[in-house]
Amino acid sequence: MIAVDGARERVVAVIEENADAIVSLSKYIHANPEIAMQEFKSSKACADLLEHFGFKVERNVADIPTAFSALAGDTGPLIAYLSEYDALPGLGHGCGHNLIAIAGIAAGLGLKAAIDGGLSGRVAVFGTPAEEAVGGKVLMANAGVFAEVDAALGAHPGTSEASCPTVEGSGQALACMLVRMEFHGQAAHAAGDPWNGRNSLDAVIHVFNGINALRQHVKSDARLHGIVTHGGLAPNVIPDYAATEWFVRAGTTAYMLQLADRVKEIAEGAALMTGTRLEFSTPEEANSDMITNHVMARVLKKHLDAVGLPIPESKPEAGSGSTDWGNVSYVTPSLEVSYPIVDRVITWHSPDVVAASDSELGYQNTLLVAKALALTGIDLIENPELLAEAKATWKAEVEKRSQVS
Ligand SMILES: [Zn+2]
Ligand SMILES: [Zn+2]
Repeated sequence: MIAVDGARERVVAVIEENADAIVSLSKYIHANPEIAMQEFKSSKACADLLEHFGFKVERNVADIPTAFSALAGDTGPLIAYLSEYDALPGLGHGCGHNLIAIAGIAAGLGLKAAIDGGLSGRVAVFGTPAEEAVGGKVLMANAGVFAEVDAALGAHPGTSEASCPTVEGSGQALACMLVRMEFHGQAAHAAGDPWNGRNSLDAVIHVFNGINALRQHVKSDARLHGIVTHGGLAPNVIPDYAATEWFVRAGTTAYMLQLADRVKEIAEGAALMTGTRLEFSTPEEANSDMITNHVMARVLKKHLDAVGLPIPESKPEAGSGSTDWGNVSYVTPSLEVSYPIVDRVITWHSPDVVAASDSELGYQNTLLVAKALALTGIDLIENPELLAEAKATWKAEVEKRSQVS
């Protein structure tokens, strides 16, 4: 332990002293909702405030105009907080990312105050755009932005059912990739000379039947779901072009890639059966599954209780959704905690969330979670054994999940 006197008091004090500026930033983002990769006002306002707080800010990180990094401290472990700020098309801040933005910034400000007071570590706040589409963290992880980070932390708003993933098997998210299968056939008059046609829509139908047959033989965490994007233009023309898109999801990235190979084989079979030509592509970078760091979650839980946000511990549960946090979690020990911004259960991605994201309770709990995140950062810097334990469990989990059993 390399304890620094007064570090914890400094964290709490600096977040409280700057609460008005921080909440104003969140209200501004809420009032100016910007969708994925268009978050120009939001990212600028975040980066400007961090600069005002004394961080060294870099914009256009990973060649993404709305991504940024903000650093403070000279030596020691690097603790990162990840901020999001994208909104949903037609809805606004229906996922509360205006609160995620300030959770990361306030936590970063808190840890910086401790570092300025003598704690020997470094802190970063990363502005990570486009969580709802594209996945800014995926692009940033691929560009090596998080390579030096010793631990990455963040918070996501939730309902009264929000919980902290302290136990093994909690905090999971599925690996997910988009696959597109296009079939090129031969147009012909569907009644006049169908024997001259090669039916690309039949190939798409075979893909659906093939994947439906595959379902019986996949692990229970796998999810395969698709749509027909192109299925021909007129019933009296044999479709010479048809296309289908699928999400392939699984508990681990390794298993997802294996399933994607099976799907490709099905498509190849469909092309062979119909005499069409297959074009197989993966238009977007895949999301990795989420490796939640329970060592860090247990430390965070202790601080959440202490600051007055005693959310319950999560139960072990298979992942259902997917997040770009997954790709960060394969680069460095990672933790994203959920916390309540309403006192009841509401449907997510809805107008109810838009309202809750601009509520007294929402701001109040976001500042509490930021304090707990900053205090967790102090523990990780002050206590090398704790950080080493977090890293060891992370490394073991990456290795385990890289094998397909
Ligand atoms: Zn979200
Ligand atoms: Zn969302």
